[in-house]
Amino acid sequence: MIKTAFTTLLLVLLTATVCAEPVNIRGVRMWPAPDNTRLVFDVTADIEHSLFVLKNPDRLVIDLKNTRLDKPFVGLDLGPSLIRDIRSAPRNDSDLRVVLDLKGAVRPKSFALRPNNEYGHRLVIDLYDERGAAPSADTRAAPSAPAAANAPREIIIAIDPGHGGEDPGAIGPRGTREKEVTLAVAQRLRELVAREPGMRAVMVRDGDYFIPLRRRVEMAREHRADLFISIHADAFGDPRAHGASVYTLSHRGATSEHARLLADKENASDIIGGVSLDDKDDLLASVLLDLSLTGTMEASTDVAGRVLSGLGQVARLHRSRVEQAGFRVLKSPNVPSILVETAFISNPQEERKLRDPNHQYALARSVMDGVRSYFRQNPPPGTLLAVRQESRGQQHVIGRGDTLSGIARQYQVSLELLRSSNALRNDQLRVGDVLNIPRSSDG
Ligand SMILES: [Zn+2]
Repeated sequence: MIKTAFTTLLLVLLTATVCAEPVNIRGVRMWPAPDNTRLVFDVTADIEHSLFVLKNPDRLVIDLKNTRLDKPFVGLDLGPSLIRDIRSAPRNDSDLRVVLDLKGAVRPKSFALRPNNEYGHRLVIDLYDERGAAPSADTRAAPSAPAAANAPREIIIAIDPGHGGEDPGAIGPRGTREKEVTLAVAQRLRELVAREPGMRAVMVRDGDYFIPLRRRVEMAREHRADLFISIHADAFGDPRAHGASVYTLSHRGATSEHARLLADKENASDIIGGVSLDDKDDLLASVLLDLSLTGTMEASTDVAGRVLSGLGQVARLHRSRVEQAGFRVLKSPNVPSILVETAFISNPQEERKLRDPNHQYALARSVMDGVRSYFRQNPPPGTLLAVRQESRGQQHVIGRGDTLSGIARQYQVSLELLRSSNALRNDQLRVGDVLNIPRSSDG
């Protein structure tokens, strides 16, 4: 008797599992990126799915087990995506079939994402253009100078706005998302780089879509960047935490507990933003050795220091020295790389400043000051800047604490001559500016 009751109970339990609550599709978002289109379904639980492609015309069919659609897919702006139309129909009583009508052949990839602090359970469908559009083709702008062999080249600055798409990054008390301010500051920095003679900017991300960390590193290498700058905003439980900081990759551990936690958080971007588990990370094993062999580490530290002192002119600093931690996005062999935490987005005052276009410009300008100062002192061989400097003679890059009279003493020229050969109206110096050092005989 007891045994029968138990069996009945077991049967009931099994039946309950089989006829589980249906999963509901609450809505769908789309993130068009240069080389793919990402479609994200917001769902109420893990969802069982399968997909296959059909030809003539090109379609992608997504079959969803035990699933219901809350409301039809209307109002989704398909704009420049690979998708022409999206429709759905019930199937086998409990299932749902979603069909994407496509503009051409695609290679699909799908995976589930766990809830994060902005979204719940999600099903991600990535559509890669089968016509083989080169990844990031649209950001690979043609060199502005005619590319004769051995012609001096521009210095290439890869600007990497952190996060994007499904990964909002840190979120401020007023709801400001890190991914938005990083893009805004990055775009302003791009403008400044473009104005700089002999330099060119490459945007690693230039819209609201997600890019895996490894892909960001690859893009810097593909573009043969001379410098990689990843832009972020910090966050901490205590809203009083404040200030900008600059990081480089660590050889060993992190230089502080906060640096270690920060790197963990930034490295979680892939998990939050959506990288499927079969994208293995095979690049990084020998990277640290490479970095130390090529002097990339020293170059990174040098740029980082200059950018930090630039930031110190326009913002409070979190730490007065460059910090280090194991940021995966900084692991480009041969490309000096730094990560700038512009401010604490979790601090109400700093959140407000991060949203202010004037402050975004000020941040970009101060990063630019550091970058300019570094390359003027260390122009990579074969670049326009190197050629220009060879033809120009000696120069001095203004550092912190420099005075005009001190520089005059250092190079043994008169103050008068130093002023006149640089057309200075007063003796005020800006960190990162460059003074021509006249030969004493010039006067
Ligand atoms: Zn970040």
